[in-house]
Amino acid sequence: MAQKLIAGNWKSNGSLADLDAFINEISAAAGLLSRAEVVLCPPFVYLQNAVSLCGGHLAVGAQNCSMQGAGAFTGEVASEMLVDLGVQWVIVGHSERRELFGESDAVVLEKVKRALASGLKVMLCVGESLAQREQGDATRIVVKQLSVVLSELTSLESLVVAYEPVWAIGTGKTASAGDAQEMHAAIKAELLASGLKGASSVKVLYGGSVKGSNAAELFAQKDIDGALVGGASLKAKDFLAIIAES
Ligand code: PEP
Repeated sequence: MAQKLIAGNWKSNGSLADLDAFINEISAAAGLLSRAEVVLCPPFVYLQNAVSLCGGHLAVGAQNCSMQGAGAFTGEVASEMLVDLGVQWVIVGHSERRELFGESDAVVLEKVKRALASGLKVMLCVGESLAQREQGDATRIVVKQLSVVLSELTSLESLVVAYEPVWAIGTGKTASAGDAQEMHAAIKAELLASGLKGASSVKVLYGGSVKGSNAAELFAQKDIDGALVGGASLKAKDFLAIIAES
């Protein structure tokens, strides 16, 4: 069976000292770490330190990138700059970016294209709100978010999809393993229907209050290939407890 991919999204949290301690602790658990492909996504300003401290089974990702290349775009970080630093991954379309910073599907598409063209591996986040789920609209929304991106790509070889129901992020609520599996199967069907290169090997991660106590049940689902973890990635012990279930 393919290794699970487990990514930690620190959001706007942590310090240099936290990063140092976290990577030391994680790296010391080499046996556990080698069970999975692990990606740490700290804030932009800590990426260089993370790159110099990580390696082996622990890769580094950014949480966002610009939809533009280099140029007069104050405050933006171009994907080429991330590559220059040695960053391998980028999260694109996280629901916090979509909701709090107004990123539309069109913006997400541009970011994905830029990131892939620069040589980054992309974790594309998709997910429905609580109202959309209650209206029975969850699958349509998620498939639409995905299809907008698929429509302009030629290869999916460097793409991972993270299904993150918005109502489960940072709330302590998790989708039931059955509901998550159902959505993952729909995502995989959409990927396959695209006919794009690499479609059958795209990993689909689940995100939304994943922790050591619920990871095993989620990971046991046929189409759940790993996890995108927020809160439980901030402490090495909690993050390792998830990796241990992979
Ligand atoms: C996330 O930020 O992508 C996330 C899933 O957060 P949490 O694990 O805290 O719900």
